Amino acid sequence: MSIVSKPSASKIEAPKRLDLRAAIGGGIFEYAPAPESVRPEIADQYGLFIGGEFIEPISGNHFASMNPATEDTLAMVADASSADVDRAVQAARDALPAWAGLSGKNRGKYMYRIARRMQERARELAVLETLDGGKPIKESRDVDVPLAAAHFFYHAGWADKLKYALPGRDPKPVGVCGQIIPWNFPLMMLSWKIAPALACGNTVVLKPAETTSLTALRFAQICQEIGLPKGVVNIVTGAGETGKAMVEHRGIDKIAFTGSTVVGKAIAKTVASTKKKLTLELGGKSANIIFEDASLDQAIEGIIEGIYFNQGHVCCAGSRLFVQESILDRVVDKLTDRMSTLRVGDPMDKNTDVGAINSKEQLDTIERFLATGENEGATKHDVCPSTLPEKGYWCKPCFYTGVQPSHTIAREEIFGPVLAVLSFRTPDEAISRANNSPYGLAAGVWTDKGSKIFDVAKKLDAGIVWLNTYNKFDPTSPFGGYKESGFGREGGRHGLLAYCQ
Ligand code: NAD
Repeated sequence: MSIVSKPSASKIEAPKRLDLRAAIGGGIFEYAPAPESVRPEIADQYGLFIGGEFIEPISGNHFASMNPATEDTLAMVADASSADVDRAVQAARDALPAWAGLSGKNRGKYMYRIARRMQERARELAVLETLDGGKPIKESRDVDVPLAAAHFFYHAGWADKLKYALPGRDPKPVGVCGQIIPWNFPLMMLSWKIAPALACGNTVVLKPAETTSLTALRFAQICQEIGLPKGVVNIVTGAGETGKAMVEHRGIDKIAFTGSTVVGKAIAKTVASTKKKLTLELGGKSANIIFEDASLDQAIEGIIEGIYFNQGHVCCAGSRLFVQESILDRVVDKLTDRMSTLRVGDPMDKNTDVGAINSKEQLDTIERFLATGENEGATKHDVCPSTLPEKGYWCKPCFYTGVQPSHTIAREEIFGPVLAVLSFRTPDEAISRANNSPYGLAAGVWTDKGSKIFDVAKKLDAGIVWLNTYNKFDPTSPFGGYKESGFGREGGRHGLLAYCQ
């Protein structure tokens, strides 16, 4: 940090508010880089994890998993065909009687071992997650990996108490579960899927997203290291075709899918004519509502956390900001100031706030939305001063004012660091504008008045409502949506329901 020279005594005036934008532009807040030093072992090529062993795919085909911050290939990953899915389902089916027949206490012991091993390997997992996905290391280190381990701890605790968790129900496992996850929280989504399934005595075949397979494959090694019975967890890597083969497979009893609404609808159609159970965690366009009596500095942090966390690649991102008209200018001003301190760049640097966009494809999608925002007449605020690296996929966080509810950027999920700012006059208007969306995943409400909080929260069409906070996740708290954001809950006692008959 460079030193600012002091003015002479005769020139001392009343203290002024620090102009953060000028401070950043003037280099006062330059930080020395603080790169993470752990170098995890990454194999050149990975097979599929079936029946407790890594085996080559039948086709022999592999695809590259890249670091989106450098465009370097990290490893080659097996491309599973429907015949490979068949092998994985058979391994899960073979393992089912013994795993389901194990006492809850003993299933819990294996799960505690997994959780502890994840904690022991936390830094390695965090680095892998950041290299493979592009998210800042401080997020993978402080959010993704601790929460993933916490999900295993939490569900290990339920394994021998299912009768108490689900009184009046028969807590028998569903059977073989096919689980398909996206790329935004690879290890966390894996734990949200695998932990409740194992606690309830099911066996699983899990498919990670094609751009982020590495932590799932590291997790497979953890299953080997802790001696999990073979076939209880199987990991098949591949793209949409592999997922489709799982959805269509007759040996799978339940599909748990997290991903886009478009794919979720297609899966719902396929599964409708079968006996499979189904849960869908889909997209969102969540509202973050700021009332004039809110603590504004706190709310600004909530806005930043709501939309720029994980580059905005968050299903429940607070991507529609509703601000009460009387404070709109102040909020825009404060937001501009705060955003001028955000650092975009090397995800492996502990100072980085916003990392790389996960893939070229996702960057192209975001850029299309940015162009549409301006074409439709909204005003873009590009206030983040960072210089972007030349290689890799990057998008500076920004926000739009002058947004109308009919604008594309106010209606469609962008899944990037782009915020649409809208206004409202009364609580009723805030509620009706927030609910004017085909999605119903999450919402945030910021106000000083407890009574208003609950009055507004209960009228919002959202699976999760955060009050004076945003993007807080906990294994004890059920997560899931309404409307086109899907159905079923993950986490808490509610999440166990999906994995019991
Ligand atoms: P996506 O739907 O393209 O892919 C998700 C997964 O499904 C990937 O593993 C992919 O390979 C697989 N897949 C693709 N086509 C398939 C098909 N026809 N049949 C079966 N599987 C198929 O979504 P994405 O781009 O990876 O993820 C982003 C989306 O996920 C966003 O819409 C986001 O909101 C949503 N998401 C939702 C939640 C939630 O909890 N509600 C959490 C995270 C992400």
